[in-house]
Amino acid sequence: MGRILFWVILAVVIYAAFVFARKSRSARIAREERGGARESKFPAPMIECPECGTYFPEDEAVLGDGKAYCSERCRKKARARKERQNGNA
Ligand SMILES: [Zn+2]
Repeated sequence: MGRILFWVILAVVIYAAFVFARKSRSARIAREERGGARESKFPAPMIECPECGTYFPEDEAVLGDGKAYCSERCRKKARARKERQNGNA
């Protein structure tokens, strides 16, 4: 009887250790995922597109003519307008 109890307790302890290890590993993975997300999103400040006024993360900026635009479209639009203005002047 004592032997059976010993094996039952051993099985419970092994199971508990297994569950605990799985839990702590998944918690670590979740923490790393959150950390990665924080690294890619939070340090980038939001800046305003000079063309359309939209706020967007700086690391997604499309650079052109010394300015940071929200998209290639806005950059082209700004450049086209500038060229038009230069042509008229
Ligand atoms: Zn824009």
